[in-house]
Amino acid sequence: MLAHIKVNGIVQGVGFRPFVYRLAKKLNLKGYVLNLGDAGVEIEVEGDKKTIKIFIKKIKEEKPPLAEINEIKIEYRKEKGYEDFIIRKSKDAKGRNTSIIPPDISICNECIEDMEKQKRRKNYFFTTCTNCGPRFTIIKRLPYDRPNTTMDEFEMCEECKKEYTNPLDRRYHAQTIACKRCGPKIFLEYKNEIFEGEEAIWKSSALLKEGKIIAIKGIGGYHIACIATEEGKEVKRLRKILGRQQKPFALMAKDLQMVKKIAYVSKEEEKILSSYIKPIVLLNKKIELPYVAPGLHNYGIMLPYTGLHILLFKEIDSPLVMTSANYPGLPIIYDEEEIKGMKVDAILFYNRKIWQRCDDSIMRRVAGKNLLIRRSRGFVPTAIKVAMKTRDILAVGAEENVTACFLLNQHAFLTQHIGHVQHLENLEFLKKAIEHFSNLLNFSIEAIACDLHPAFLTTRYAEEIAEEKDIEIFRIQHHHAHVAKAMAEYGLEEAIGIAIDGFGYGSDAKAWGGEILFSNIAEYERLGHLQYHKMPGGDKATQYPIRMLAGILGNEIADFICEREYVFPHGKNEIEVILKQVEKEKLLTSSCGRLLDAISSLLDICHKMDYEGEPAMKLESVARKGKDVLQLEPIIKGNVIETKYLVEQIYENLRLKKEDLAYSAQEYIAKALATLAMQKADEYGIKNMVIAGGCAYNEHLTTKIKEMLEKNGYKFFINEKVPCGDGGISFGQAVVANKKLFD
Ligand SMILES: [Zn+2]
Ligand SMILES: [Zn+2]
Repeated sequence: MLAHIKVNGIVQGVGFRPFVYRLAKKLNLKGYVLNLGDAGVEIEVEGDKKTIKIFIKKIKEEKPPLAEINEIKIEYRKEKGYEDFIIRKSKDAKGRNTSIIPPDISICNECIEDMEKQKRRKNYFFTTCTNCGPRFTIIKRLPYDRPNTTMDEFEMCEECKKEYTNPLDRRYHAQTIACKRCGPKIFLEYKNEIFEGEEAIWKSSALLKEGKIIAIKGIGGYHIACIATEEGKEVKRLRKILGRQQKPFALMAKDLQMVKKIAYVSKEEEKILSSYIKPIVLLNKKIELPYVAPGLHNYGIMLPYTGLHILLFKEIDSPLVMTSANYPGLPIIYDEEEIKGMKVDAILFYNRKIWQRCDDSIMRRVAGKNLLIRRSRGFVPTAIKVAMKTRDILAVGAEENVTACFLLNQHAFLTQHIGHVQHLENLEFLKKAIEHFSNLLNFSIEAIACDLHPAFLTTRYAEEIAEEKDIEIFRIQHHHAHVAKAMAEYGLEEAIGIAIDGFGYGSDAKAWGGEILFSNIAEYERLGHLQYHKMPGGDKATQYPIRMLAGILGNEIADFICEREYVFPHGKNEIEVILKQVEKEKLLTSSCGRLLDAISSLLDICHKMDYEGEPAMKLESVARKGKDVLQLEPIIKGNVIETKYLVEQIYENLRLKKEDLAYSAQEYIAKALATLAMQKADEYGIKNMVIAGGCAYNEHLTTKIKEMLEKNGYKFFINEKVPCGDGGISFGQAVVANKKLFD
């Protein structure tokens, strides 16, 4: 009999065809296997029924480590009389489906071994195989074959060709196959001199050890690197060059042992660090490496994930700062021309193009969950399955940490991290990523979703698309999208949501950010929120949290604020202006982030926001050593959580230790949110509770809320497949729009 089999999932670029080939050969089945454009893998096998059944079973059970099977469709047809089993050439992209290319995968152990033992790959920086290497960042179009990648410029040598065409070789059809003879070459530019090959790498190591700052070309863009020591003078200089005073830098450690020297690592964190994704993981500090993450209790650390990283560390015994090369607020730099504009000591680069830029992903374990702070390299473009009927919907995100989301065939595809779309450069990046994904997915847009905020660049872009394509546009309230994205990940039909973040445009045109919502995905109802406070000077109150403090406490703290003259860039004059603004200000916010910021300023922890979330993050770090000295019971009036009361209590107790006050503040906010959410859940007869928004990364808040909810018999959910902050909001926008279309 003949079985015609279609396999969907991550089955291209992960050694799936050779695996099928070897299996069919072993079972003596005849037929073929081939990649189907963007539609997975097609197999035909002929043989007796029993053997075919075994074949299908083994496909599911023994698939290659990186393959993921979403669906296998089998049709039995008339025999064709195949004489052998072969791997057929890929068909052109046709049809559409949920199979797509795999993400970039960190170098595997066998390749690391080859870099030591194999002559052609001895210390070769671009050693990869069927199971590892860049994917997403090099693919121009589907199907995933070498001519469709940025490896097309490198012609294979005879030896590589032999491996590539030998089904029994572990580099059989490895599209990134390369060796010293035929593959990409590496160069170091230092003081008008060019070093090449291994020499470029050894020289770079030596320069790093001397304390030099080097731009290093990675998988999805450039890193800026320097050594991080307990003295810290290199990192201090790096801060000066980049003009970044406070923003934490990511570190790369040589191995787990080195990670454990500088930070505490749990078993679960060890697993994430070493996974083939190799994300940056936030880990609590063990020793202080000055200037790396000032004022914070943790470092973002990752392990080497390319051959180049492994080679660089051969001679280096301290962690390296490895921060994305970009100008403040702009996308990661990925081409040789642009990197020359950075004031670094040297540039280590290679002659293979990066097709799609892609930043490192960032994760943090909170309340026993693996939270994604940034979902990018290693994850993208892996799909997320959604348990609902879907139309083809594009969602463009909000303003900060933007990603776009494509919904089709019951799957969601999120783009790589784009960044803050306040600049045209980032909007261009977003447009390009959307175009690339549209092509890969053969997407035919039926509706578009965006934020409710009328002035976001993403909103305007969505309006343009809606007009051009003549499709419906859905404007989704920010916190509704937050809650819906958690519901969609877990397939919940109804839930009470706690959405806490910095800012989201409310349906009353106020700045929301501490919300209790009911949602059934399509619709939502606002059930309660943190007390509204004035935001004197609007955005300025975000940048300078003492303004927020003045907005909360009003003129009763005029004297106190005058004592803090040093906080104001323009001194006394500014204070007068602010106090006047407080009286007249119309802009109101219920933001949890702004409340935490104000407390951070009140406790003299942080007075200026250099990066998103800074004052609140530093407050969290200080609170870690504290205890609940104030023991305040939450005051909830109607549907509103009193927060002026909290700030007053802290103000009146400023003589107490700041870590205790910081702790007490977070405890109050968590208790109040959980209490109000539970009240509402009981009114609605709902047990499912979701928490979402950027403040949910705060370990204290989320752990406390989870504890209270679970203790009282509610179910607690938080996103693990997409960021619970704005990086995942496009997913929420897409599912809400989709549900509205069907309702
Ligand atoms: Zn490998
Ligand atoms: Zn070669």
